[in-house]
Amino acid sequence: MTAFRKNLIDGEWVGDAGSRNINPSDTGDVVGEYASAGVEQAGQAIAAAKAAFPAWSRSGPLARHAVLKKAADEIMARKDELGRNLAREEGKTLAEGIGETIRAAQIFDFFAGETLRLSGEVVPSVRPGVGVEITREAVGVVGIITPWNFPIAIPAWKIAPALAHGNTVVFKPAELVPESAWSIVDILHRAGLPKGVLNLVMGKGSVVGQAMLDSPDVNAVSFTGSVGTGKRVAAASVEHMRKFQLEMGGKNPLVVLDDADLAVAVDCALNGAFFSTGQRCTASSRLIVTNGIHDRFVDALKERMEKLVIGDALDAQTQIGPVVDATQLKQDEDYIAIGVREGATLAFGGERLDRKTPGFYLKPALLTEATNAMRSSREEIFGPVASVIRVQDYDEALAVANDTPFGLTSGICTTSLKHATHFKRNSEAGMVMVNLPTAGVDFHVPFGGRKGSSFGPREQGRYAMEFYTTVKTAYTFAG
Ligand code: ADP
Repeated sequence: MTAFRKNLIDGEWVGDAGSRNINPSDTGDVVGEYASAGVEQAGQAIAAAKAAFPAWSRSGPLARHAVLKKAADEIMARKDELGRNLAREEGKTLAEGIGETIRAAQIFDFFAGETLRLSGEVVPSVRPGVGVEITREAVGVVGIITPWNFPIAIPAWKIAPALAHGNTVVFKPAELVPESAWSIVDILHRAGLPKGVLNLVMGKGSVVGQAMLDSPDVNAVSFTGSVGTGKRVAAASVEHMRKFQLEMGGKNPLVVLDDADLAVAVDCALNGAFFSTGQRCTASSRLIVTNGIHDRFVDALKERMEKLVIGDALDAQTQIGPVVDATQLKQDEDYIAIGVREGATLAFGGERLDRKTPGFYLKPALLTEATNAMRSSREEIFGPVASVIRVQDYDEALAVANDTPFGLTSGICTTSLKHATHFKRNSEAGMVMVNLPTAGVDFHVPFGGRKGSSFGPREQGRYAMEFYTTVKTAYTFAG
């Protein structure tokens, strides 16, 4: 018996027919069945969120704090179970699934705290006798559209600030990972959210997501996903003159200089490029390595890759789980073939692996002698595939690192303060790491990128307020 999970609209669980959620480690394992909303239900969810907005936006900090704190506590208490479900539906390892779940709890905890720390400003006007108050208000109905690669953390870092700041939400998760999405909505619902404040509409992006984009009653959209869909969100949002925020792809460089600590550099590359099966928008997909350390770096990295345990996400020994589905697996293989056709050497991996159960297993792949002009170096692959680009010196490394349509994260491995400092200042990325993997960020500080990676205000931490509130300036003549 698999569970049948319904959508939450105006405080009621609704829906009958739906789609199945398949475990990528074992395609014979059905995680559950999920209702699939249509245009009409999306409309009902938006109407419910609109109706709930006036009361929720005036509810006061304590009501919001109570719900968010309760949700944080329940997520933390159930981290093993929720983390396991996450690993089962997405394919990241058990440790990664539990780690991501803990992070979701921490995010709800952080934003519970934010409800109590709201502030405003009072300043004198330039006109005598007049006072000015600068306050922040909720934006309204927020549409939240999320991808499959962080099934609980990304919904958490959008839903928590949206609710904390008094907005109401229509949430559309990715079709591949509805269980984690359903679970946090269930937890928030039981934590005492008034009806209509948070609505869940699982279903197709082209139907439910598009209906949200087309609605004049959605006042803001926060989106994480592909560049193509992000552009649709942008165009539709301009049409409706609504706020929008996009987090899209990355082609993140990790620079390794001759003076790097080799062990640190290899750790950073291994983690950044291949952990979470390389399915992170912050993954290090371009390893830009100076000539003096290049061969030692490649040899040491291959040695570590050889030892990686690739297998069922739920097996405690596994270090790299399967690719999320057949489409993504084909995309990974296609890009490896493109890289080789364009002249790179497949120095390691890249082949499908058989395991005890049928799943989408791919041996992490390393392309060497790649150039930055190759499609495999310019386009996001979103899998366990990294390219090594050989450069002469720091100046060339920086130029290659910045020569990309994306700008989410970047990293440098060096023991030189001069180069580390210069790189932090001159890297055209939203987040820069020194002697750390390009992936792996804290939840209490801003997250976001530049160029083709991101658009709009930053997510996470106090900076999330920029998107989820709007500023009001009020003047009072006191005589
Ligand atoms: P990914 O490659 O990460 O799946 P997508 O951009 O296809 O990226 O999907 C990210 C999210 O956007 C998913 O929840 C998906 O259902 C949704 N989505 C896809 N197409 C549309 C659309 N036309 N309008 C709104 N949302 C969409």
